[in-house]
Amino acid sequence: MDSTAPGLRSELTSPPPHMTPEEFRQHGRAVIDWIADYWERIESMPVASTVAPGDIRAMLPDAAPEEAEPFENLLADLDRVVMPGVTHWQHPGWFAYFPANNSPPSVLADTVSAGLGLIGLLWSASPALTEIESHVLDWLVDLLDLPQQWKSTSAGGGVLQGSASDSTHVAMVAARYRARQRGSQPVERMVAYTSAQAHSSVHKGANVAGFGAVRLIDTDERFAMRPAALRAAIDADVTAGLLPAFVCSTVGTTGTTAVDPVDEIAQVASPAGLWHHVDAAYAGTAMICEEFRHHQRGIELVDSYVFNPHKWMMVNFDCSAFYVADRGPLTDALSITAPYLRNAASDTGSVIDYRDWQVPLGRRFRALKLWWV
Ligand SMILES: *Cc1c(COP(=O)(O)O)cnc(C)c1O
Repeated sequence: MDSTAPGLRSELTSPPPHMTPEEFRQHGRAVIDWIADYWERIESMPVASTVAPGDIRAMLPDAAPEEAEPFENLLADLDRVVMPGVTHWQHPGWFAYFPANNSPPSVLADTVSAGLGLIGLLWSASPALTEIESHVLDWLVDLLDLPQQWKSTSAGGGVLQGSASDSTHVAMVAARYRARQRGSQPVERMVAYTSAQAHSSVHKGANVAGFGAVRLIDTDERFAMRPAALRAAIDADVTAGLLPAFVCSTVGTTGTTAVDPVDEIAQVASPAGLWHHVDAAYAGTAMICEEFRHHQRGIELVDSYVFNPHKWMMVNFDCSAFYVADRGPLTDALSITAPYLRNAASDTGSVIDYRDWQVPLGRRFRALKLWWV
């Protein structure tokens, strides 16, 4: 490099175009103050944003600015441009969709995670990311009284996904793999079952995984799936030459908080060879309390389970805990090792590589916020 070039010399003497660690310290304090102020005043704000479509975009310049701006301007724009278009999910008067609680330790942990900037595709890509994830997910097994077999120290294990929809989709991919191992039926002949009250993510997961059909099973007067109706639907599909392959029970449906009888559904599903998944995305957190655990009776009989700490456990989005009773079909279905991903630790088989437990390769350090909370 020619250090005598006049243009380069003047660039070297002007301040660097990026934020220095010292400036980051200063602006970081201002941002934390901004968040704390927001939490203090949130109750005085209207819950729902009242902007019209396009209002927020109209406040933005047509092209990205060429020149840097002082950081204070960005904070001012946060109040001027962003806040009018914010619907306040953390407001005490928030009763839409579902609760998505946040908490200061969770936000601080996510900040650290962003600062570290890890991408934990393999154990060796950052051992702490993987080991803390396995460990806190094992803690949750005890906290929610889930089967011991679901611990990473046993045949199963837990993994953090981005959403319950991802978790259910991945369960269906594992179910598809296991069904294909057991017979030579094409995936278009595979049928998935869930209750008419189940979350739309079950249907979507079935579409993405290529299942041939989804049957929405009739519910009783408490909106719970009727096991006899499930059995009848399975029998009809077998008679029609189809392959019943997957059933999703829900513990706490989104619209009606209905609880399917997991144990009775298992008695229908297991003999028929179906993969049984439980969607407890919203209500799963309640199982911390012993008095609610009767709602998950029969949980030791299922193949996979999802609940979202990002809904009701004070962990900010995204943090979806997905468990399998046997990790074999899951990792067999999703494991593909490119030459550049081979490494000594993985080759020994003594570490968990979470890329084999999810669709994406890269993954954030989500476990830190779960741990801190
Ligand atoms: C919220 C919810 C989902 C979807 O959760 P995401 O994490 O947004 O995909 C799925 N199932 C149930 C029962 C839910 O309450």
